Amino acid sequence: MSQAAGQEPGAGLAAARTAYEELRAQDLRLDLTRGKPSPEQLDLSDALLTILQPGDVRAADGTDCRNYGGLQGLTELRTVFAELFQVPVDQLFACGNASLSVMHDVLAHAMLSVLPGAKRRWADEDEIRFLCPVPGYDRHFSLCDRFGITMVPVPLTGHGPDMDVVEELVAADPRIKGMWCVPKYSNPTGETYSDETVRRLAAMPTAAPDFRLFWDNAYAVHHLTDEPDAVLPVLAACAEAGEPDRAFVFGSTSKISTAGSGVAFLGSSPTNMAWYSRLTAAQTIGPDKVNQLRHARFFPDAAAVGAHMERHRALLEPRFAAVYEALEEELGGLGIANWTSPRGGYFVSLEVPEGCASEVVRLAKDAGIALTPAGAAFPGGRDPRDSQIRLAPSFPSVGEVRAAMRGVAVCVKLAAAEQAAASPAV
Ligand code: PMP
Repeated sequence: MSQAAGQEPGAGLAAARTAYEELRAQDLRLDLTRGKPSPEQLDLSDALLTILQPGDVRAADGTDCRNYGGLQGLTELRTVFAELFQVPVDQLFACGNASLSVMHDVLAHAMLSVLPGAKRRWADEDEIRFLCPVPGYDRHFSLCDRFGITMVPVPLTGHGPDMDVVEELVAADPRIKGMWCVPKYSNPTGETYSDETVRRLAAMPTAAPDFRLFWDNAYAVHHLTDEPDAVLPVLAACAEAGEPDRAFVFGSTSKISTAGSGVAFLGSSPTNMAWYSRLTAAQTIGPDKVNQLRHARFFPDAAAVGAHMERHRALLEPRFAAVYEALEEELGGLGIANWTSPRGGYFVSLEVPEGCASEVVRLAKDAGIALTPAGAAFPGGRDPRDSQIRLAPSFPSVGEVRAAMRGVAVCVKLAAAEQAAASPAV
């Protein structure tokens, strides 16, 4: 698999080592670890810093945003994002600065207070399990670790999780109380859930009466093509299937406006939102409405968000193109690597020969190229095949992405040649 046709195994390894030493000699300092927006992307939202002038403090309904209150968040902002997150506006809360915190809170509330439909608090169960489509988002797995939730990996298919596997597991095991879903431009595979996947998730019989989909629509509007993918509205699908309380929908403006100082959203059924609202009222007197007002002024309607996302796309597209070009140039046709070319989102998923991913990441690190640790996209940080690497090209410049990807390709060739030399074909 790892030798170019007609090449002596030893020659391949020697050439790969020479190329790697040349790479190291370049003394690179490049970082493709996390899906952070680039400074140029953040510049797109600089108007947020000045959009509110002294005296401009009132929401459309007259609320003084500088004062306490308004647990559900500003109506005008919820109206814009209700459309984008496919949640009825009355069932959507505009929360704090990060959707990850909201996911944490919903889990903490479910642990400490009986969820609608549950027999007892999750903290009082012997064991709680969550299905984790893999490869997935490492911070979802950190949340499971934090709350002592057992993670059950399920394979992805290119159009969402393998539903035959999911249906069988949730029907049989009442300990399975939840499932992580990134329905659009998934982190890191880039895939979007098909209509059939959404319908089956909404309708599948579950042994746990309090089973919930944790629907993290982090990349709802993060398209990289002219024809955006569409996902069925999950709350409507659940309601239609007679499971109105099945899904919690999360989202944020972290990669729309500013990362870490945007606005997060939570949507669910009226019953779930009443539960959440009651528990959240003990936690805060209200969200940061000044930030919400800034966002409402900056994004007066869904079309404004769409136009803004096109500006992001213009910055992201050349970076993704640089990844494909470099990988194709260096690895195309060699049969040692595959990679995704997502229609949206922030990541490219690189597949290297089984057993090589950790070595590629190690070699890259020694050559000054920081990659997400191999296995990070799997529960416990362990990829059973040690073959998947998440590439995050958004932050570095186009030139840096190109240099980093050429370097990664050199590392892939060396790791594959080392492996082939260690176990030559007989
Ligand atoms: N969910 C997914 C799938 C993500 O990729 C990210 C960002 N990397 C987040 C959530 C984090 O969102 P927030 O900043 O709103 O916490």
